Amino acid sequence: MRAERLGEFRSRFGGLPEVDARAPGRVNLIGEHTDYNGGLVLPCAIDLDTRVLLRARADGTVRVFSREFREEQSFEASAPALRGGWVDYVQGVFAALREHGVTAGGFDIAIESDVPPGAGLSSSAALELALLTAIDRRLELGLAPERRCELAHVAEVSFVGVPCGIMDQWAVGLARRDTLLRIDCHTRSVRRVAFPSECVALLIADSGVRRALSQGGLAKRSSECAEVLEIARRAGALSAAASGLCALDPEALAELAPLLSPQLRRRARHVTSENRRVEATCDALEAGDFDAAGEALREGMRSLREDFEVSTPELDHLCASGDAAPGVYGSRLTGAGFGGCSIHLVEPRSACDAADFIASGFESEFGRRPRIQLVSPADGASATTMPG
Ligand code: ADP
Ligand code: MG
Repeated sequence: MRAERLGEFRSRFGGLPEVDARAPGRVNLIGEHTDYNGGLVLPCAIDLDTRVLLRARADGTVRVFSREFREEQSFEASAPALRGGWVDYVQGVFAALREHGVTAGGFDIAIESDVPPGAGLSSSAALELALLTAIDRRLELGLAPERRCELAHVAEVSFVGVPCGIMDQWAVGLARRDTLLRIDCHTRSVRRVAFPSECVALLIADSGVRRALSQGGLAKRSSECAEVLEIARRAGALSAAASGLCALDPEALAELAPLLSPQLRRRARHVTSENRRVEATCDALEAGDFDAAGEALREGMRSLREDFEVSTPELDHLCASGDAAPGVYGSRLTGAGFGGCSIHLVEPRSACDAADFIASGFESEFGRRPRIQLVSPADGASATTMPG
């Protein structure tokens, strides 16, 4: 496979690459819609990668080929300008580097990925970090891993214009094998939580529904949270300095309830309770209590379905049959919802049977077999210099 990639690079660009970099996709075990509310998330990188081959050019042109999009595009490294396509994520990295004071020249770049785009596994952050790590290595910039995460986040938020929290870039950039990252999205601090792979495993099932169709629903949820925050601040339940809605405890929320519509009350209840479920899941994993971790996942799913209302019939089905499957501790949708994937915490020896059970149930309901994969918490972005 590697030889094939190198051959393709050479025939497209007329020379061999100088750097080979990779960055993984990620999955969030729990902590949904907490990131933009100043709360906690618990992702890990997964063993699906986006790979970037790269070599510097003598001029200032960036030529970039994406195998998944079967397309080559080019732009001037000194003048990235939004086009409304996948190349914007590449241009965003150059724009973020410029903002950081790095004048990168031209490159030939080939992208190839196992992370399905738009499935909620963060193919965008995988691309940004694979590319940043490759450029960092080639230009010997010596960027700290946290700095690369920040630059990737700037690329996506400021250049591409996606209003995302920090979780994806931090997870993809800082992950380590057999470890979950408990990230405080307000302080950006990271604590590593061991994932005991000999006792538990993760299954990811792709509902096949792509959430691009419901960007409106996501924007609505974030504006509802902003509305509750504003009401809480006006009522004195949260100080202006508080990190966000996640800082509201259940008692303060109960006092605030009369000021909120029933819908806003449910939204706030999800956000505040979800933050506590992240803590509960960390504690349960550290204590080896996988039933308790599974219960937090199941309760999180109920909250996303009933209080935050971001599930779909497909995700409901995957999670319900996951919870009924042999050896599954708990299931929930992962990512923002409105489509994407579900995640299932399962006993390793039951993983194949559980995957079969979930896939068969889904097929009889929806007439197609979902893609289900066993994934392991993997290492974050890395790069190697090719022997020249
Ligand atoms: P997610 O990050 O959940 O996969 P996003 O909508 O945030 O979904 O990002 C997907 C976008 O990232 C794609 O539409 C494309 O623009 C870009 N992208 C992801 N993977 C690749 C790839 N292999 N080649 C080119 N662009 C990619
Ligand atoms: Mg993304």
